[in-house]
Amino acid sequence: MAEIKEPDPQDDLATAILRTKSKPNRLLVEEAVNDDNSVVALSQEKMDELQLFRGDTVLLKGKRRKETVCIVLSDDTVANEKIRMNRVVRQNLRVRLGDVVSVTAFPDVKYGKRVHVLPIDDSVEGITGNLFDVFLKPYFLEAYRPVHKGDILLVRGGMRQVEFKVVETDPSPHCIVAPDTVIHCEGEPIKREDEEESLNEVGYDDVGGCRKQLAQIKEMVELPLRHPQLFKAIGVKPPRGILLYGPPGTGKTLIARAVANETGAFFFLINGPEIMSKMAGESESNLRKAFEEAEKNAPAIIFIDELDAIAPKRDKTHGEVERRIVSQLLTLMDGLKQRAHVVVMAATNRPNSIDPALRRFGRFDREVDIGIPDATGRLEILRIHTKNMKLHDDVDLEQVAAESHGHVGSDVASLCSEAALQQIREKMDLIDLEDDTIDAEVMDSLAVTMDNFRYAMGQSNPSALRETIVEIPTVSWEDIGGLEEVKRELQELVQVDYYQSFVYGSRGT
Ligand code: ADP
Repeated sequence: MAEIKEPDPQDDLATAILRTKSKPNRLLVEEAVNDDNSVVALSQEKMDELQLFRGDTVLLKGKRRKETVCIVLSDDTVANEKIRMNRVVRQNLRVRLGDVVSVTAFPDVKYGKRVHVLPIDDSVEGITGNLFDVFLKPYFLEAYRPVHKGDILLVRGGMRQVEFKVVETDPSPHCIVAPDTVIHCEGEPIKREDEEESLNEVGYDDVGGCRKQLAQIKEMVELPLRHPQLFKAIGVKPPRGILLYGPPGTGKTLIARAVANETGAFFFLINGPEIMSKMAGESESNLRKAFEEAEKNAPAIIFIDELDAIAPKRDKTHGEVERRIVSQLLTLMDGLKQRAHVVVMAATNRPNSIDPALRRFGRFDREVDIGIPDATGRLEILRIHTKNMKLHDDVDLEQVAAESHGHVGSDVASLCSEAALQQIREKMDLIDLEDDTIDAEVMDSLAVTMDNFRYAMGQSNPSALRETIVEIPTVSWEDIGGLEEVKRELQELVQVDYYQSFVYGSRGT
């Protein structure tokens, strides 16, 4: 078989696509639909072309000579030149979405005699006890998982997720962990290597209920940040600024963070109200510094939260500071035009109160509406926030989603944590409050029930409905002294009309 060349990190999208055409086993990485550390998905046509069968083990090669082994499944929703894998597999291959990996059949992976797995220290902070029984045993019992020496495994259990590293395998460097493979996990937790990113960072899979908007943003941001050459070659100006608008708590900041992490861009957060300073010139210089810092660390995303606080309409504001900041922001954004690799994202819940000069071409010329999620969106968000929780069999998330009308992302998040807290309160006697750490087995014994969710729903106050609370007052006519004439007139006008609408079906007929 011909030797597979390492994918070139300099590949831009166009060449990458060309190459995948000429080399059938080089595929573009796409987000997984099923979050499984050991599985990648290809189209059936691609599987046939590469002579792979469902459940085969494949060797994947990514960047920096990183390799790993996975099981391949077919999924006809995957495009032919693409491969779906989750965040863990991407991290093990040091690739991001849109990068290229190579796939080869790898039939001779042996069943392992032994594997040595250790937790990563910062991911097990605060838990003690038997990590093997709670995390590793169920993880490996679930399937025959192929592992590669050096792989990171993200394992969920006991209300949280823990990262483990495969330190050694016998045979090395890869094997399949079968029921009689001995899994060693003795030893101190190990440190994360520099190039290994924490898998706890926010990614696209942490954002729920706004798939369309996310796809739009990805398209606008990912290409200019990851493949600036493409824009240069075609001569199209990449978008500079994107304005995300929608009510608070719908995930605007979350989306910006996810985009930064997934593209590997530097993230600079500017909090609108925070940079405002009464000192002459200080607010502008804060803003300038932010842009300088971002440019130095390009590719970068500058995220301005609450843009309306710093850039209100200039004719409506009386503050001198605001006026100067708006002009400074305009200058900085225009200045960015020539230099590539920096995308400015801003969030607001009042797009119409922003200075219109900022919403012109070359500035915030793209606007994305991050609306309130519907029941399906809420279900997605519920799934995300209960990912690490053990749920009792009676929990029906669809029901919770249907009943949580008016909840935005952050309400759903707090609903889930309130339900989990309620579960913890019920099992308070199991937890030693004096201790700084919690035993993994105790955590694992907590399963959130439907009653916990009902309790949490009773407690929560959905923010989208907060402004329109209807209260029925307890004041009656008798409580009003005097004013007989007014009372009579009101009774005739309002109450009789109301009564008629009952009798005749509609008012006034
Ligand atoms: P915004 O910036 O729109 O005010 P945030 O991004 O700060 O809202 O959201 C606050 C928190 O609410 C997030 O950290 C996340 O936990 C949760 N959240 C909000 N929207 C979503 C969403 N669409 N999907 C998942 N979680 C969400």
